[in-house]
Amino acid sequence: MSDCIFCRIVAGEAPSSVVFRDERVTAFLDIRPVTPGHLLVVPNDHVGFMQDLPDATADRVGAVARRLARALRSTEAIRADGINFFAAEGEAAGQEVGHAHLHVIPRFAGDGFKVGAVAWRQPAPTREQLDASAERIRAAVSTGPDTG
Ligand code: 5GP
Ligand code: ZN
Repeated sequence: MSDCIFCRIVAGEAPSSVVFRDERVTAFLDIRPVTPGHLLVVPNDHVGFMQDLPDATADRVGAVARRLARALRSTEAIRADGINFFAAEGEAAGQEVGHAHLHVIPRFAGDGFKVGAVAWRQPAPTREQLDASAERIRAAVSTGPDTG
């Protein structure tokens, strides 16, 4: 039996409340929902990070997350005012479960959930600093693998 909890959920070996499933992805309720209806979309095959998913699976994660977001906004039972899509990739980013997953979090006015960064309260970098950063990232993008 896998020691990955999301693999066990996908295999039906651990309890979960599934809302959608196809041959590539499974979506289920987060066990500790930030808000009611908080969902996780996971690839059925074990991969640690989104960056390493085959494109067809990554595309499916995105498409299913968008479909779930539409449902969370439109269904009478939830009627979300907004949605946060969120992924933590790596320990430094706060990833707790080492099986790639995309959070789809319904948002409601005054729900108390906050996404914050110290930098947002400080002066913005100069355009020169932003351009220098963009140049370094462009170089990494142009030499990195494109799995598409
Ligand atoms: P992350 O890795 O993105 O920081 O967070 C992992 C998420 O998985 C958390 O929101 C946590 O509540 C959820 N989670 C952890 N274990 C289980 C589980 O056994 N079942 C379900 N449905 N969700 C889980
Ligand atoms: Zn897994």
